[in-house]
Amino acid sequence: MWSSPHQRTQPREPDLADQRPEDRTRPGTSPSGRYASLVSGFRRLGILGGTFDPVHVGHLVAAVNARHELGLDQVLLVVANEPWQKVGNRPVTPAADRLALVEAAVEGVEGLESSGIEIERGGPSYTADTVAELEARWPGVELNLIVGADAAAGLGCWERIAEVRSKVVLVVVNRPGTTIDASGPDSPLVGWDVRMVEVPALEISSTDLRDRVASGRPLDFLVPMPAIHVIRERGLYPVSR
Ligand code: NAP
Repeated sequence: MWSSPHQRTQPREPDLADQRPEDRTRPGTSPSGRYASLVSGFRRLGILGGTFDPVHVGHLVAAVNARHELGLDQVLLVVANEPWQKVGNRPVTPAADRLALVEAAVEGVEGLESSGIEIERGGPSYTADTVAELEARWPGVELNLIVGADAAAGLGCWERIAEVRSKVVLVVVNRPGTTIDASGPDSPLVGWDVRMVEVPALEISSTDLRDRVASGRPLDFLVPMPAIHVIRERGLYPVSR
């Protein structure tokens, strides 16, 4: 997970996401020789932010396809601390539980990492703050903000959106049935440096998954098995909401 070391619950090997690029390229600062080849080529980072309540395979399919199509070195799944646009609509599962789900879901998946950066910052989660923090931490690395078509359509309402626009490449994952048109003067994507990535349509939503748990229906193959274990162990989603 991309996080402060003291916040981890279990010791594990250091990885690429824990190091700033300048540290990774400095001889002798790599945690282990086997990271050396990755280190020198680390230039393009993907950021897939989400509430992830819960994370599901649609999120992972979006992340791995964006990574593949755009040659990203790594995609961070950034768990929103307070998804302010959802607060008040329904109870949101505690951030620590949602982070545990994402950690479990990406465990062992090449090129994907969970990130608790917004949880560590606390308060409402604004992508502008996250982008600024990542830029400061990793100067010179190209930041690729990955969003679904629905999220892309709502970009105009985001906090300090001009600041975000000036700092990132916007990667829109279009899935059949949920697409957005980048052309035309009225498109919400005007002014952005946009890349489009086509992904298969997976009719999976976090809302349906919460309902499934509450009504005892299976999550198998919709949510990665390690994350299903976390849902069960922690007794998440006992009632429909
Ligand atoms: P979410 O529901 O967990 O979804 C995360 C992302 O996965 C979204 O881009 C979503 O695209 C995509 N996705 C969901 N289901 C998918 C599927 N079956 N196949 C492919 N992609 C799928 O998270 P969210 O609550 O929408 O938040 C998204 C991000 O936007 C968060 O980082 C949040 O902080 C950020 N945001 C920021 C601001 C701000 O800074 N002011 C305001 C609003 C949101 P779709 O939207 O197309 O489903």
